[in-house]
Amino acid sequence: MRLLAVDQVDANHGLFRAVKDVSFSVMKGETIALIGANGAGKTTLLRTLAGAHRSSAGVIKFGGIDVTAMPAHARVKIGMALVPEGRRLFLKMTVQENLLLACSAGRLGDWNVESVLEALPQLKKRIHARTANLSGGEQQAVAIGRALMTNPDLLLLDEVSLGLSPIAVEGVYHSLKTLIAGGTTCIIVEQDLNRALKIADRFLCMLEGRIVLRGDCEEFSREQITQAYFGLVESESEKGK
Ligand code: ATP
Repeated sequence: MRLLAVDQVDANHGLFRAVKDVSFSVMKGETIALIGANGAGKTTLLRTLAGAHRSSAGVIKFGGIDVTAMPAHARVKIGMALVPEGRRLFLKMTVQENLLLACSAGRLGDWNVESVLEALPQLKKRIHARTANLSGGEQQAVAIGRALMTNPDLLLLDEVSLGLSPIAVEGVYHSLKTLIAGGTTCIIVEQDLNRALKIADRFLCMLEGRIVLRGDCEEFSREQITQAYFGLVESESEKGK
């Protein structure tokens, strides 16, 4: 079943077109890696999907519903959740309070504090700790847990490993693998190509706002993907000319 359909979407920062004519779809249960160099437009695209940034052209459909003009909080209510870059947690609150706050923003489902702690066991001992006192990896787990508490059908993850120690990154990715194995549909923005391609079924590679290469992760060599990443191959739109 097709969960997300993105059709010819543009997104601007002022007069600058950061996302240009992007189209793709995501099936339920798939994991998509959104890759590309710094400034390629990955964060802007992800935020546009979540409704945190307004699109300037195109159509976004989620579960068959046109969400293009729908505000972010309404998208959460129908099952889209963003784990933003930089986490944006309430640092003075406890882990439990952060999780429970998200619950009221979302909808009912299987995810609750207990099931989130099962999926993210590194938080069990920290549930009553002030979020500010957690390590970066633990805070990232809270950010993922908070998104899960809204019972999403689609999880949008922006650079979850940014600024974390290698051990913390392992912990976060271990948790993500558990979620993916449980059937959660994800779009993951990740700078680390190897990690992204290992965890995802398919990838979308962006360059200067456009998707320049896409496919099954196993179908393309690391070299082909790296060339697209650095703009060393014809883009999809140039090929079509
Ligand atoms: P990174 O990996 O560095 O986060 P990215 O692929 O996520 O990069 P974006 O952050 O979406 O890329 O940025 C896309 C383009 O839009 C870049 O050229 C960036 O400079 C520009 N941009 C991003 N945010 C803003 C903003 N708030 N105002 C103006 N330009 C912006």
